Amino acid sequence: TIVIGVLALQGAFIEHVQHVEKCIVENKDQYKEKLSVITVRDDNQLTKCDALIIPGGESTTMSLIAQRTGFYDDLHAFVHDPRKVIWGTCAGLIYLSQQLSNEAELLKTLDLLKVSVMRNAFGRQAQSSTRICDFSSFIPYCDDFPATFIRAPVIEEVLDPEEVQVLYKLDGKDNNGQELIVAAKQNNNILVTSFHPELAENDIRFHDWFIREFVLKAPMNTSEF
Ligand code: GLN
Repeated sequence: TIVIGVLALQGAFIEHVQHVEKCIVENKDQYKEKLSVITVRDDNQLTKCDALIIPGGESTTMSLIAQRTGFYDDLHAFVHDPRKVIWGTCAGLIYLSQQLSNEAELLKTLDLLKVSVMRNAFGRQAQSSTRICDFSSFIPYCDDFPATFIRAPVIEEVLDPEEVQVLYKLDGKDNNGQELIVAAKQNNNILVTSFHPELAENDIRFHDWFIREFVLKAPMNTSEF
């Protein structure tokens, strides 16, 4: 079977597990016994995984826990393996990035995503909001997805346009006057979103697309289906 892991050091990991489980149940003819989801807290669990979701939460805390438990190196090696599929949401996006545009002394990222990220980019007034977004340019027919932003980061700059493709931008500019890129992919195996699709209640369209478009299309996994 193909195993999707959800990093469970800290943050909103349960909601991701539940959304993936719902995808498996609703597509049971296709996915049953071929796809499973587990929480990941150590290397023993990580080595079972073909894909890893890094959830929202607090990126500094997540990185400190990984360093203190000695898990950082294993995680680093996993996400840098091009055969693996990775999805980071919110704090997960920050944790994957190569560059941060605001101070974050204690935060040691996984140095994977070739972008510059600004944390808490929406400022105090709009720290949290749900916006209905039209994602139909990359998710077929998905033109009304409720995207929840909670003290969300934005991608201010793509450092390598050959590898990183912007999937979605909000209108307007952030506190630094930069664009508000909130969804992107790097190559065909890394997805990041600054919002939380796992908080869209009973709405598994985003997770379903991630499974179909990334997890099932990963070269190692195609033979299973
Ligand atoms: N602001 C948080 C951070 O810097 C991210 C918030 C979230 O994941 N909802 O890690």
